[in-house]
Amino acid sequence: MSFTVAIVGRPNVGKSTFFNRLIGHKKSIVDDVSGVTRDRLYDVSEWNGKHFTVIDTGGFVNASQDIFEKEIKKQVELAIEEASCILFMTDATAGITDLDNQVAKLLRKINKKVFLIANKVDNNQRYLQAQEMWGLGFDELYCISSQSGSGTGELLDAVATLIPDDNEPESDLPKFAVIGQPNVGKSSFLNALLDEERNLVTDIAGTTRDPVHSVYRKYGKEFMLIDTAGIRKKHKVFEDLEFYSVIRAIKAIEDCDVCYLMIDATLGIEAQDMELVSLVIKRNKGLVILVNKWDLVEKTTYTSKEFETKIRAKLAPFVDVPILFISAKDKQRIFQAVEKGLEVYNNRRQEIKTSDINDKMLEAIGKVPPPSYRNHLIKIKYITQIAKPYPAFAFFTNYPDQIKGSYKQFLENQLRELYNFNGTPIRLIFKEK
Ligand code: GDP
Ligand code: GDP
Repeated sequence: MSFTVAIVGRPNVGKSTFFNRLIGHKKSIVDDVSGVTRDRLYDVSEWNGKHFTVIDTGGFVNASQDIFEKEIKKQVELAIEEASCILFMTDATAGITDLDNQVAKLLRKINKKVFLIANKVDNNQRYLQAQEMWGLGFDELYCISSQSGSGTGELLDAVATLIPDDNEPESDLPKFAVIGQPNVGKSSFLNALLDEERNLVTDIAGTTRDPVHSVYRKYGKEFMLIDTAGIRKKHKVFEDLEFYSVIRAIKAIEDCDVCYLMIDATLGIEAQDMELVSLVIKRNKGLVILVNKWDLVEKTTYTSKEFETKIRAKLAPFVDVPILFISAKDKQRIFQAVEKGLEVYNNRRQEIKTSDINDKMLEAIGKVPPPSYRNHLIKIKYITQIAKPYPAFAFFTNYPDQIKGSYKQFLENQLRELYNFNGTPIRLIFKEK
């Protein structure tokens, strides 16, 4: 199951600084609700080879100057419900404030691991100041500087010990998730798949926190559906911020093999959809795009082709993703969606013979060799597939760090031409030999 780390704390303690350090870059997402651009609030991160999702819950509440107790409470409740563990951040330079005490009080009651952090510990003097935070009543205190990064390694080591090893789910059934913005038709699609033969469907109900996994068994096809739809309805309070739909989508991505990203034909592909695409690619999951509500679109001969071209332009360079035009309402092309999902699942799992890949790729490389580096010839000597749940290849070369991005893209394109990797990301790794 996915591991989620939530950062909580009052405004200005440094949550987003720490968050940006964790995700290693800064990017913006457009918040459709308020119409403003704001920092990204969730992303995936990695430490010691373990992956986890980080949420900056501070961004999900109204962080106006006079922040209400209610808002803080909401933030902490989000974290408590959704996170696997919580990073409670305070500011060593400010000491313990009223709001810190309020957050601490909420967090002391829960039975999830809470890491108390004194941030802005940029020097030894501050380290002494930070000791005051013991007063908040937790067993451990991590002193860090989000700005310089000092102390963050120890904190992340401690967090990482809680994260199970990066294994794919044990079930050998393919796992599919349906993700997308609210109202695009995810539930309708799931119902179209599952409803008619309810007796063949087993609901493996998790706890209230877990998505419900249903098994689809029909026409000799079998797979597991990670159902994140419907959960939103239980949390009407937070609907304005779409927090739950976002977090559920992230979890579903982590738990699945292949994602169906559903978009609304009347709206087209939007910024939020591209955010989800980028998470799917980052986690090396398979992707099928379903353009739903196709029944509502006035069709001329070229409509679907034009629509498809637009989507592919946005996906570039990952262009060989299956795109289907469906209607969940009219049950149009639902079965094709199933077949495509299984196809992508198989593409993602295929094993390529070492001799075959070397014969074919070394020939292609011979024709278009990598650009030389400071008059040194770069040679790619051989290639092997790495044992991963997704396609990953190691290229052995004399200058692994000098292969340009454009050449990496060339290699990936070659692999995609030689083999069928439709709908699945590919990872290339360069090693010295
Ligand atoms: P948030 O409201 O909790 O997300 O806080 P921010 O990340 O926006 O940080 C608030 C302020 O504290 C900003 O001016 C940051 O530059 C500053 N800050 C964050 N981390 C550190 C740190 O480790 N040391 C110092 N000196 N300042 C920091
Ligand atoms: P979800 O929030 O993504 O799970 O979306 P729902 O499945 O609840 O659907 C949202 C609305 O879109 C509902 O009113 C559905 O009846 C409607 N809807 C879903 N699929 C289709 C479709 O293929 N065509 C049309 N016309 N409406 C649809």
